[in-house]
Amino acid sequence: MSVKYGCVCFAVPKKMLRHFANTSQDEDREMLMEQLQHSSQLRGQRGAASSRKVVATKRGAKILHRQVFDAQGRTFLPGKILRDEDDPPSHDQIANQAYDNIGIALQFFANVLGRDSVDGKGMRIDASVHYGYSFANAMWTGEQMLVGDGDGKHVTNLAGSLGIIAHEFSHGISQHMVKGGLGVVQVPGQPPTLKGEAGALNESFSDVCASMIKQWHAGEEVQAASWLLGEDILAPQAGKAIRSLKDPGNTRMTWPEDDQIKDYKRFKITDDAHKASGIANHAFYLAAMKLGGRSWETLGPVWFKGFDRLRARATFLDAAHATLIVAATLHGKGSETHEAVKSAWKKVNVLA
Ligand SMILES: [Zn+2]
Repeated sequence: MSVKYGCVCFAVPKKMLRHFANTSQDEDREMLMEQLQHSSQLRGQRGAASSRKVVATKRGAKILHRQVFDAQGRTFLPGKILRDEDDPPSHDQIANQAYDNIGIALQFFANVLGRDSVDGKGMRIDASVHYGYSFANAMWTGEQMLVGDGDGKHVTNLAGSLGIIAHEFSHGISQHMVKGGLGVVQVPGQPPTLKGEAGALNESFSDVCASMIKQWHAGEEVQAASWLLGEDILAPQAGKAIRSLKDPGNTRMTWPEDDQIKDYKRFKITDDAHKASGIANHAFYLAAMKLGGRSWETLGPVWFKGFDRLRARATFLDAAHATLIVAATLHGKGSETHEAVKSAWKKVNVLA
């Protein structure tokens, strides 16, 4: 049996779940620790679920093709169908939220970046809501999206968060874009993980796309944007956001143990992908701010086409070069865009 790609990214990073567990009492603590454990097992089980057929359909000009399922509080995928494309809204509001937010992500990639679904060939997007018991996470499994209901005390509203759904959707995009998966390390018998610089670039691609999708949907220019992710899923006592692209690692903007870095000089090969992603996130933020206006128009195509050139083991320097090549091709060498991209990668110390 061939080894299947398994996405290894949960919306709420392990470090954050552990922090929630450590600051919780007895039962809640136990439940969150179990969920941490479960995420590792789930990642190890990819092969078993992958026999399910992924349908790629020729749909002409049709952009939207979605199915939302009810996992009914269990962990079997996909579960019972709740809403097919073109069905009227379901009685289940969580399912409708997931359906709508996936639709926004599909439309963004198709209309703004010219990509037809995650595989570029109009693949139907399946999502299972009500995954697990009080499951405080969402994930792209490599084949579909799964969304928990949250534990209510720290994490809520995962399906209702455009940023979270768009982030996970974008993992599907990079999975198909970069052969073998950007930074995905597969060790037989172990769950796949995102490693090194490429793994951090994978995470960053999802954060950058999610930020653009939020801004595009709100019609928001870069000056007005919050540049936060996950600000709409956290209970007040849990924190303000999962990440900030404006100032990675600023705990006053995010959560108490946010350790994201924004300087390549601080990067260590053992860094978690969610930590080191701050470097490329911040580079995108800096370039977008320099250009002003609408990020998805000024910088979106440059970043997207740049990352499309990357290979599975790409470095930050590769990403800098790739985005610079695309900036020069689209806007000209020495253009405002080319200069903005160059100065951003310099500021985070990827370029000398
Ligand atoms: Zn992710």
